[in-house]
Amino acid sequence: MPADIPGIHHVTAIASDPQANHAFYTETLGLRLVKQSVNQDDVSVYHLFYGDRGGSPGTSMTFFPYVGAQQGRVGTGQASATQFLIPAGSVDYWVDRLASEGVDADDPRERFGDTVIPFRDPDGLPLELVAHEDAPAGDPPEGPVPAEHAIRGFFGVTLSLQSADSTARLLEAMGFRPTERDRGRQRYEGDGDLGFVVDVCENPQAPRGQPGAGTVHHVAFQVTREDQSEWRDILVREGLRPTEIIDRKWFESVYARTQGGVLFEYATKEPGYTVDEPLDELGSSLVLPEWLEDRRGEIEAGLPPLRADE
Ligand code: ZN
Repeated sequence: MPADIPGIHHVTAIASDPQANHAFYTETLGLRLVKQSVNQDDVSVYHLFYGDRGGSPGTSMTFFPYVGAQQGRVGTGQASATQFLIPAGSVDYWVDRLASEGVDADDPRERFGDTVIPFRDPDGLPLELVAHEDAPAGDPPEGPVPAEHAIRGFFGVTLSLQSADSTARLLEAMGFRPTERDRGRQRYEGDGDLGFVVDVCENPQAPRGQPGAGTVHHVAFQVTREDQSEWRDILVREGLRPTEIIDRKWFESVYARTQGGVLFEYATKEPGYTVDEPLDELGSSLVLPEWLEDRRGEIEAGLPPLRADE
């Protein structure tokens, strides 16, 4: 048996304007752009990665910003909220900060003993700040948010499903244990200290989500290189049709569409975002994996302008 999965590795969503996306995640939320690359399956589109100082597993929120993308619809078969972890004492700071940055956040609410601040990014992607005791110190980036209040990484994700059974079974096979439950929200928890929560909300009546700007594309979980092919075998046994192991340069990945409709990825912690750029320079220029490097001129010419240094 492979080791239990401790938590989320990264979450990838669809955006529209790359500059607005960059401004929101680096300035408003204070994350660091740790990798500026292209969607390896469509090189006319950026792949932007935001995280802590080094983009540690469990911290990176990534985007495919398709200029002019159609708006998606958040619904079942999707990760319907992405939850970031902030320290328990940082609620007032973030309420004030979001208001002063012009973000229309909902009032803080309680959920399973934590205070949660729901809001949306410029494309309407549902986000939450979850103020949690025992927030890890983490490795916050230099930036507009003081380290004591910085987003530490992911708390978890909410999955919205028409039927939860098969996804619940898969999460338990991955090592997530059912914990609390409230009004159709069943919490599953892993052993990690970041991205360790998956909330499953079952609603057979709710409309299905539509992919597009403002929706999550996939949720990636942390695995080790040693265990990755075993996880692939488990996905096959669960009746899913996983991809082969794909080299994504900063991690190796297996993808499988779950029966509930959400695309899961199983990504290795190794080698990480510093494999091709020094820590101090992460995100400062367009990085391509070596198998795309000989197309750099053509790729750069096809990308929209992005000022990532401001
Ligand atoms: Zn991914």
